[in-house]
Amino acid sequence: MIRDIVKSLFIIGIVSTIIAFVLDSLGAHFWYSLAFGVVIQFAIWKLYTYWLDKKIEIQSKAIDADIIKDIAKQTATLPCAYCGQDNDVPIRLDENNSFTCMGCEEESVVYVSIETVQRTVPVNLSEPRLKINEQR
Ligand SMILES: [Zn+2]
Repeated sequence: MIRDIVKSLFIIGIVSTIIAFVLDSLGAHFWYSLAFGVVIQFAIWKLYTYWLDKKIEIQSKAIDADIIKDIAKQTATLPCAYCGQDNDVPIRLDENNSFTCMGCEEESVVYVSIETVQRTVPVNLSEPRLKINEQR
């Protein structure tokens, strides 16, 4: 960690010195040129890391979208509405579903309906039960 920081500062120092010597030979003030070299390197580094963060953010959003697509995908074996042949159909809950039959090549539309029912309670099996003959 500290070794990396020292290495980075060393590289910044060398590059800044080179920039300062070049600008100095072109008639600029040496120490101002050195300071300019340091500032411009930090600015470039900041821009680079900003660009890298944005790129990673966009990639991770694309990966999240792919994962959500995979989760939303389910497959069901459904009969064709025309000939009755079974087809493996990917079902998505986030869009309308249809499939082209492998047998007759007609397109069937899939309607997905979700309903609710009451939760069932298991009967108590330890209580004595009536035998069928005793009910009469
Ligand atoms: Zn068919």
